[in-house]
Amino acid sequence: MHKIIFLDRDGTINKDDGYTNKVGDYKLLPNTIKGLKKLQSQKFKLIIVTNQSGIGRGYYTEDQMHEFNNHLLNKLKQENIDIKEVLFCPHTPEDNCNCRKPKTKLIESYFTPDFDKNNSYVIGDRASDIELANNAGIKSVLVTTGSSENDPESNSNPTFIAEDLLDAANKIQNA
Ligand SMILES: [Mg+2]
Ligand SMILES: [Zn+2]
Repeated sequence: MHKIIFLDRDGTINKDDGYTNKVGDYKLLPNTIKGLKKLQSQKFKLIIVTNQSGIGRGYYTEDQMHEFNNHLLNKLKQENIDIKEVLFCPHTPEDNCNCRKPKTKLIESYFTPDFDKNNSYVIGDRASDIELANNAGIKSVLVTTGSSENDPESNSNPTFIAEDLLDAANKIQNA
């Protein structure tokens, strides 16, 4: 059995300036390295799941997103943190695709018989991340590191609320 952390990217791992896409704007949030190391030491596989509607809106290209992702993954690799894959949706909400979070399409290929669903989590800073977890029937952590649009109206009901990824890792460890 393997357990997985599905990680949001912007506002969860790196600072979210709104449609973040330039390597020059890359900045990790506090305690990201410590938190990811701690999750990795708990034997979680780490997968990024990110909505990148800036591509569909024409704000940046898919190549620019890959460039940013490669930079991020290389920086994490230098800390011995291994992100297995980056799953992304390039569409706008108006496209009505079936991969934009909170839809579960992007992560469904990981729902194999040896997937430890009861001990896997989505971690993110938005209601759409928590709703992704709810739709997939897995647990979730809302981190309060995101820049904006934490929707107080939302009844997304995360399993835990954490102040950053280290706090999230601690809460998951003590669960
Ligand atoms: Mg986010
Ligand atoms: Zn999509």
